[in-house]
Amino acid sequence: KAKELSGNQYQFYSSDIVDRSVESVQLENDLYKALDQGGNEFFLHYQPKFNANTNEITGMEALVRWNHPKLGFMPPNMFIPLAEETGLIVKLGEWVIRQSCLQMKRWYDAGLTELVISANLSPQQFRQHDITNVVKEILEETQLPPENLELELTENIIIHNSETMLATMHKLKNLGIKMSIDDFGTGYSSLGYLKDFPIDTLKIDKSFIDDITTNTNNAAITNTIITLADSLNLSVIAEGVEDQEQAEFLIEHGCYLMQGYYFSRPLEAAKLEEVFLKNLSQKG
Ligand code: C2E
Ligand code: MG
Ligand code: MG
Ligand code: MG
Repeated sequence: KAKELSGNQYQFYSSDIVDRSVESVQLENDLYKALDQGGNEFFLHYQPKFNANTNEITGMEALVRWNHPKLGFMPPNMFIPLAEETGLIVKLGEWVIRQSCLQMKRWYDAGLTELVISANLSPQQFRQHDITNVVKEILEETQLPPENLELELTENIIIHNSETMLATMHKLKNLGIKMSIDDFGTGYSSLGYLKDFPIDTLKIDKSFIDDITTNTNNAAITNTIITLADSLNLSVIAEGVEDQEQAEFLIEHGCYLMQGYYFSRPLEAAKLEEVFLKNLSQKG
């Protein structure tokens, strides 16, 4: 990027760029090491998804965290972009999918056979040539039925609408897994693609939900997404629901599936079991 800047601008930014790149090279090394050592520094939190109609959990999303040996707890936005840039996301992402499936299999065996675990799939991961085989092998290895796994894709995957991309989506879908589009509404993709894609769910981005009760534009966009999902026979879920007003608005407008701090923050597996899953498995 420095090359693009000219004259004074370059002078002004250069030391900052050097500092930051030294830091990110260090972090990249740490990330590489952490993955090489088998991923013990990473862990997953699980955020439940609720059906407000039935008052039940339908599944949970696995969200990765890094317990860095020196820097301590690191949220994903501090290392996922770097992992993307460096290609390390491929290995990290595989670790996430495997751990998610292992955990879901434990819950499945405990009787929670209806739950679906979701893992986020980054664009770089999606573009790796053998992603379908990676997922297939993890499913075989963990013995998790494919319908209990969902992959959350972002619109960025779809932005480069191509034959290869479409073929990959179909191959993944043919494994029997579920697929959703995460952060829906924030990408620059055209809506035309939706009908061609083997997806199950649209996940409305938090940025629309935030001020849904006060901002008529975002309320209108949310309603449009709900209607769109309905007419394409897709499920729709809202992310980032933080209060009762937002939840009520969504229910009134036909969106019953929700995720957000209002219901639960992402939790470690044991905590999730303690708070939510005990009742579920006793019922079933
Ligand atoms: P995302 O997949 O859209 O996940 C939602 C993020 O919003 C999570 O942040 C979640 O903790 C947060 N969130 C959920 N409900 C609320 C709420 O009510 N209020 C607020 N303020 N926040 C809420 P997190 O865990 O920090 O993850 C951020 C992003 O990092 C994720 O966005 C996802 O894009 C990425 N990410 C996380 N784990 C993975 C992973 O294993 N692989 C990949 N490729 N990306 C990941
Ligand atoms: Mg997600
Ligand atoms: Mg999201
Ligand atoms: Mg989001």
